[in-house]
Amino acid sequence: MSSSEHTLAPIKEVFCSVQGEGPYVGTRQAFIRFSGCNLSCKYCDTNFANPGTCDYERIEGSGSFEKLPNPVSVEKLGDMLEPFKKLHSVSLTGGEPLLHADFIEKLNLSSPLYLESNMTLPEQARKLSEKVTYVSGDFKLPEAIREICPETRELHVENTIECFRILEKNESRDCFCKIVVGKDTKFETVIQAAEAIAAYVSCIILQPETPIGSAIRTPRFTQASVQKILKLQKSLLELTDTRIIPQTHRMWGCL
Ligand code: SF4
Repeated sequence: MSSSEHTLAPIKEVFCSVQGEGPYVGTRQAFIRFSGCNLSCKYCDTNFANPGTCDYERIEGSGSFEKLPNPVSVEKLGDMLEPFKKLHSVSLTGGEPLLHADFIEKLNLSSPLYLESNMTLPEQARKLSEKVTYVSGDFKLPEAIREICPETRELHVENTIECFRILEKNESRDCFCKIVVGKDTKFETVIQAAEAIAAYVSCIILQPETPIGSAIRTPRFTQASVQKILKLQKSLLELTDTRIIPQTHRMWGCL
């Protein structure tokens, strides 16, 4: 791959909004949504295909998007982020941003980088271990992924644990783990996942699954499921700080 290819990346959209998930919910961020993902999760609500152009919302919340040429260069992306002020951080999201680690390495932005990753690409994660200040790492439970064979399941779990080890919390970085919990989530799988990564994170977020395309305020969990997730939290609190936080941006309709 030539060096020029590392200075271009397929980016689906760029906008300014607030973080809708996890312990930094409500903080003001610029979002860079990269195209492409290496997984296929059953509950995925993101269209991460490469649309050929990049949607750019220059004025936050306006709903007015310019269609810019794609892929986008490191320099152009810097210019696009310029209008966004008072940012807590810049979210690298997707799809899977680690697929574009070589490009991210070259970014030179004034705000800290907040990586939102599925944590399954350790070699790519290593490239960014000195670059990112916040890591919102998913632990994708194997049962949540479509068409995964037993061998791949094992490798997937190993890779996830390795990613958390590489990007662990330290003096200059926060790293936390997000686990989506649905009606069919197995209690034991969550406990095993949490045990494996607890030492590397500041907290674990149990995120109740948001049904794809559901109307706002539709009851999402039955009483039994609410009880189950509270019980799960109680068990995980033995390991580390554990919070239950749903996707808040879906509640008030922001990006
Ligand atoms: S890792 Fe994220 S973007 Fe990729 S399929 Fe899963 S939910 Fe969708």
